[in-house]
Amino acid sequence: MVAHTACVRDGYRDQPIVRALVKYPDEQGLRLEDVPVPEPGPDEVLIEVHTTGICGTDLHIYEWDDWAQATVPAPMTIGHEFSGHIASVGSNVSGFVEGEVVGAEGHVVCAHCRNCLAGRRHLCQHPRGLGVDIPGAFADYVIVPKTNVWRHLDDIDMEIAALFDPFGNAVHTALKYPVFGEDVLITGAGPIGLMAAAVVKHAGARNTVVTDVNAYRLDLAMRMGATRAVNVATESLEQVQKELDMLEGFDVALEMSGNPAAMTDILANTIHGANIALLGIPSEPYPIDWSTVIFNMLNIKGIYGREMYDTWYKMNVLIESGLDISPVITHRFPAEDHANAFSTLQRADTGKVILNWR
Ligand code: NAD
Ligand code: ZN
Repeated sequence: MVAHTACVRDGYRDQPIVRALVKYPDEQGLRLEDVPVPEPGPDEVLIEVHTTGICGTDLHIYEWDDWAQATVPAPMTIGHEFSGHIASVGSNVSGFVEGEVVGAEGHVVCAHCRNCLAGRRHLCQHPRGLGVDIPGAFADYVIVPKTNVWRHLDDIDMEIAALFDPFGNAVHTALKYPVFGEDVLITGAGPIGLMAAAVVKHAGARNTVVTDVNAYRLDLAMRMGATRAVNVATESLEQVQKELDMLEGFDVALEMSGNPAAMTDILANTIHGANIALLGIPSEPYPIDWSTVIFNMLNIKGIYGREMYDTWYKMNVLIESGLDISPVITHRFPAEDHANAFSTLQRADTGKVILNWR
């Protein structure tokens, strides 16, 4: 464990003091405040946080939008994308060694519902979110249940390790359907769409076409290995299909924008019988052309989170076999500079924005 300064501020007399980035409902932005080092319960693990990534969810909480107000029991330490080292373990925990590099699955499952009991934890009826429902990882220390800890590959880069949560969203969606030899359309070049492009390419897709309306992100998509990056505000996917000698449409589509217009693009540009995986979260319900779904016999699958822990296993395999997702990281800030980090992400000309705690 790192050395702490004993502190008498805020009433924490003689307790080791560390930092946590907390959302207060009645305040703009976030507060980096002094807190005591949390104590793990019998079945919990205390992790010293090293590197964190800022996710769209964190931005919703930062902006305190309607979803955040209805969902987050603030004050709340936010954040769920992180890497760190084992600091200590509870009395019922074995198998972890102090100092090991770990991360954690951010969905804490109930362990009692039908799906949990059957081992389908990603389908838990009552999941809680780290940094949403329970105190999160934008802090010097975070506590997670022992069943959520993921031990990383020995030589993993701490920044790459910190991305395993969104990387897992990308891998879960990208590998839901076979992509080897297929023409794949990815709508949305946010951090997850960008990582999905790299995964799909690595997994042997013939063409990996990524759409967005943001030139900076489309440029990054090419750096991640896309065959073609398409600005749908100015270019047509029909034309791009012709350029790529595609005859009947994309075989697989990954929706990673949450924008209804992207779903329209997918329905208009996929082959009959195409496989479509939906990760992007729309801000409100929207209509789609169900006749196309029916006449073209499309398969549509919603994706949430990561499979525990098959997606995590596949992430290791992808990294070990040479997949490089590092170009997705475009900005790095120390934790004290959190306000700058969040306003940079708000401007959207970013890939993944990192907050460093060490
Ligand atoms: P992001 O918001 O950073 O990226 C979305 C991208 O879509 C942006 O670059 C935006 O410019 C682009 N876009 C907007 N309109 C478009 C259009 N018409 N066509 C193509 N692209 C368009 O998000 P992210 O962090 O990469 O996450 C991707 C999506 O997945 C978001 O909707 C997010 O809420 C969602 N998400 C889902 C899960 C899950 O478990 N299902 C987990 C994390 C994130
Ligand atoms: Zn459950």
